[in-house]
Amino acid sequence: MATRKPMVAGNWKMNGSLELVEQLANAIKNVQSDELDIVVFPPFPLISSLQQQNVVVGSQTVSENQAGAFTGEVDAQLIKDLGATYTLVGHSERRSIYGESDAVVADKFARAQHVGLTPILCVGESEEQREANETELVVAAQIDAVINKLGVAALKNSVVAYEPVWAIGTGKTASPEQAQAVHKFIREKIASADSDLAEQLTILYGGSVNEKNSELLFAQPDIDGGLIGGASLKAESFTAICESA
Ligand code: PGA
Repeated sequence: MATRKPMVAGNWKMNGSLELVEQLANAIKNVQSDELDIVVFPPFPLISSLQQQNVVVGSQTVSENQAGAFTGEVDAQLIKDLGATYTLVGHSERRSIYGESDAVVADKFARAQHVGLTPILCVGESEEQREANETELVVAAQIDAVINKLGVAALKNSVVAYEPVWAIGTGKTASPEQAQAVHKFIREKIASADSDLAEQLTILYGGSVNEKNSELLFAQPDIDGGLIGGASLKAESFTAICESA
């Protein structure tokens, strides 16, 4: 049985302020431990402030390009230089609102690793896809886009986050059994190429996780922690979720 360290990640999306940095950084100090990785994904301008408060930070996306004429984009190297350790890639809001394809997400994954950021690859199906029994197909294609570009070994320095689109920001959490089934599928899929890597891989669940449902979700054998949106903005909720991991 693998000994994977649990992780709780907070995705602030387009929310947050210098005041929230103070509040959350102080709250996180009280629940930090060697047995848990806590990471916060604020908007770009708050990365330094959080990092200076000794919070492990990541960005919510990175450009797939190197620095150059790309107005409005942020280079992964700069994010790394500001003290970030991780970046999300392929969050469903990036895919659906900004049209990021599986191929673009794979390019972002590659660029992040190239500069030494650990990518958290977000995958997950829409409600229609679940109803059409396409969950495994969709999730497999999203992961294969990275494997086909970089090889399965690239997943070694990464994290996967399973976030069913229908559960994000809807209050409709996947049941622990539903989530576990997809996490198990992901781990088995990767194990078919590299079983050691699959055993070590951290797989997070995201989608309406809160302090009431986190404990049961995190108790599932293939769920190694959570990617938390709304509840990561409230110090009390976020720290309670950390404590349940
Ligand atoms: P939610 O968001 O917890 O608000 O559902 C999760 C996410 O988008 O990562």
